Amino acid sequence: MKQFYGEKTFGLIDCNNFYVSCERLFRPDLANKPVVVLSNNDGCIIARSNEVKKLGISMGAPYFKHKALIRKYNVTVFSSNYPLYGDISQRVMDVLMQMEPEVEVYSIDEAFITFPKGKYLDLENYAGFLKNTVQRDTGIPVSIGFGPTKTLAKIATWFAKKKSSTDSTFVMNDQHHLETLLAGVDVSDIWGIGRRYADRLKKQGVHTALALIQCNDTWIKKQLTIAGLRTVMELRGIPCISLEKAPPVKKSIGTSRSFGQPVHALSALQEAVATYTTQAAFKLRSRGLKASIIHVFIRTNSFRKEQAQYCNSKTLTLSESSSHTATLIKAALTSLKAIYQPGYHYQKAGILLSGLVPENYEQLHLFNAPDPSSISLMEAVDTINKRWGRDTIQSGAVGLIRDWCHRQLEKSPAYTTRWSELPIVKAAPPETFSVA
Ligand SMILES: [Mg+2]
Repeated sequence: MKQFYGEKTFGLIDCNNFYVSCERLFRPDLANKPVVVLSNNDGCIIARSNEVKKLGISMGAPYFKHKALIRKYNVTVFSSNYPLYGDISQRVMDVLMQMEPEVEVYSIDEAFITFPKGKYLDLENYAGFLKNTVQRDTGIPVSIGFGPTKTLAKIATWFAKKKSSTDSTFVMNDQHHLETLLAGVDVSDIWGIGRRYADRLKKQGVHTALALIQCNDTWIKKQLTIAGLRTVMELRGIPCISLEKAPPVKKSIGTSRSFGQPVHALSALQEAVATYTTQAAFKLRSRGLKASIIHVFIRTNSFRKEQAQYCNSKTLTLSESSSHTATLIKAALTSLKAIYQPGYHYQKAGILLSGLVPENYEQLHLFNAPDPSSISLMEAVDTINKRWGRDTIQSGAVGLIRDWCHRQLEKSPAYTTRWSELPIVKAAPPETFSVA
């Protein structure tokens, strides 16, 4: 009989209620208390503690709809604090990379690992050890699933989360075990099968992962394309998707956001677009890239049907690729001016940088050699902003008042990324507060 595990074992490590767990790190008084984290602009609920899940508040639910419930159950509310989550995520990934040579950072709170057959004799034991190590070194609780393929590891983690809150690890054992499990997995919960494909399968009577793996390959390929067939092979325990250790090369870098309140004036839109361009230019430089195409868009709120609607965008190609904030802002503002129409309630603006090339890729312009002083200026600005916070030095174009800025009324401090916001540890028994 075919061995259930092949040459490699795959694992998925998924941080539990990640944004909530990050907030609780610095607020240990909130352990076992209901907590939510809101999206940019405090619009929707994007992370919930288990206590909140039990109240029946769903993922992505609008905040205003549940305000009464939140007050009634004394739920603590946080605006999203991405510098904090990004930093804690890096710590979790660092711990995993110290333990395993093959790690794929899949998202801010998930990572795949893989290791050869026989490396660990007792997989249950190893999953527990890994979980405890991440928790001890970072303070973040995780769920871990092991299986013979990436897709099955993802399903194993899903079962790990369904188990008791104390254990939260799950190892697939054998073919029989697998089939029992897959009978309980809805096709819409399979990693790699989108909602449209799941609906199509259900219409044809295929509702569970078990029913899907029993279908004929030609039929599967016809319904789900070759990518779907690969997913089904993985569900059968045949590895077809390997770990992506290097992050895929970025094709574009963008920043866009909804405003805290509707914006009418060109000057406010200019400040917003300059701010987003500054942020995107910083990301560009930190990845060692330059951009040659800049795309700017603005739009009104399409949900407010009673208001006049307008949306437009403009793409501009630079004569020479650049990562210089002032050059990119100038191009972005030229595009903005061309598409701006007065008299509308603007709700969102954004920019997208593409045509990315490595910094050292020079296509010298006959009369326009890059000015070395402008490169060192950007390096100096980035160094200062990295150290003292990203708004320390910036272009005058981003404005000072910024009425349009998105709302973040409940944001916690940047505990780990800003000197001025470091947590202060008061004299207290060590078991009640420990800084990771
Ligand atoms: Mg998670």
